[in-house]
Amino acid sequence: MFIAVDDTDSRDGMCTTFLATELIAEFEDYDLLDHPRLVRLNPNVPWKTRGNGAIVVTLGKGEKKERKIGEIGEEVSLFEGISKRKEDTFQRVKKVVEEWSEFDSEKTNPGFVIADKRPPRRFYEKAVRDVVELDEVLDYLDKEELSYKGYGEKRGLIGALSALSWTPEDRTYELLTYRRKEKWGEHRRIPEEDVIELDQTLKKTFDNYDHEEKKQAVAPNSPCPVLYGVRGEDPEELEKALNIIGGEVPERWITFLTNQGTDDHIQDLSLEEIKPWTSSKITGKVRSESDTIEGGHVFFEIENKKGKITAAAYEPTKGFRNVVKNLIQGDKVELWGGIRKDPITLNIEKMKILQLKNKIVKVSNPKCPECGRSMSSMGTDAGYRCKNCRTKADEDEAKRKKVERELNEGWYETPVSARRHLSKPLARLRDNDHSG
Ligand SMILES: [Zn+2]
Repeated sequence: MFIAVDDTDSRDGMCTTFLATELIAEFEDYDLLDHPRLVRLNPNVPWKTRGNGAIVVTLGKGEKKERKIGEIGEEVSLFEGISKRKEDTFQRVKKVVEEWSEFDSEKTNPGFVIADKRPPRRFYEKAVRDVVELDEVLDYLDKEELSYKGYGEKRGLIGALSALSWTPEDRTYELLTYRRKEKWGEHRRIPEEDVIELDQTLKKTFDNYDHEEKKQAVAPNSPCPVLYGVRGEDPEELEKALNIIGGEVPERWITFLTNQGTDDHIQDLSLEEIKPWTSSKITGKVRSESDTIEGGHVFFEIENKKGKITAAAYEPTKGFRNVVKNLIQGDKVELWGGIRKDPITLNIEKMKILQLKNKIVKVSNPKCPECGRSMSSMGTDAGYRCKNCRTKADEDEAKRKKVERELNEGWYETPVSARRHLSKPLARLRDNDHSG
């Protein structure tokens, strides 16, 4: 039996992952089969909750009892057994969701789904890359006669069903720890040296520490019950984090199987195919040097045979902006990121510099071939003239030299603190993809 819940996060405190721990506690008469799942969905949709993550728990053992009823009884009792269990499960899930979410608030639109089999993966694929409509979800839920409940605008049903349909192709894990209730909302004191030690000793973890900004990245800034979360490849290694990070003692912890750090949201769309709220990789040549606007956001344009697009490195991407500022016209790059609307802009998550153009700068004006004096420029690209004897020279007569570029070809990524949950860190990219 799968139970999926979405959209119970709230600004002043709740977090859907905590609700997973409460669900597991509520169903202690069942066995927890498989890691609970934390499934992140399209980070670009404007109505997302913080983090846009839904949870799924897989419970079993209770199933056997039902089958027993079926074996000894007649069909009617089997039906009654299942419908009674269905109703009982529904009420228990409802109780937990209503206790731990602001289900009656206008700000959140929670939803939960209970199912015995996974819905088709297409729901996940669409929800992580694009937009799934509520109608598609309701049609499926009703056709399959699943137990579900949506609150408010019922948007949580979309996330719940989509998360339920996730079968991992790539996957990571996150160990999440939670604070005692009286600590919720209080400032978290996570010893920085412990996070650095964890980052250095647990080799299969990632995104623990932002070395550029010199700050830990395991604890959230919101007032939610999470104390810290450690992301990695190996659930057993993750548990060692509990012995490394000191300070406040968590009340409980749990390890989720998740699609974080997989790049599942990124598509390979052409400039003609891209649309707002999707994410894609786009290859093109830099059209001109970047512009930095007020607030420190950096923009530049790239173009290819299909068209052109503005790309952005926003202020929170910090030092990554210096990479962008050093690009020059003609550099060939592959940009990965989400597409924003009005105007259409690619919000860069990572970038591969495929080819750096030679950077040539003028050293001096040409010397006059007649009298040997230094010639004067007649304007941009207009050539030179000798003020002494009026001899003219072409623009390319000037002395030029090739300058060392401050960039190298290869990958660059935004810093840990500006990274999206779904973005695959370069450390993972290198470990898993040896092709490039
Ligand atoms: Zn001259």
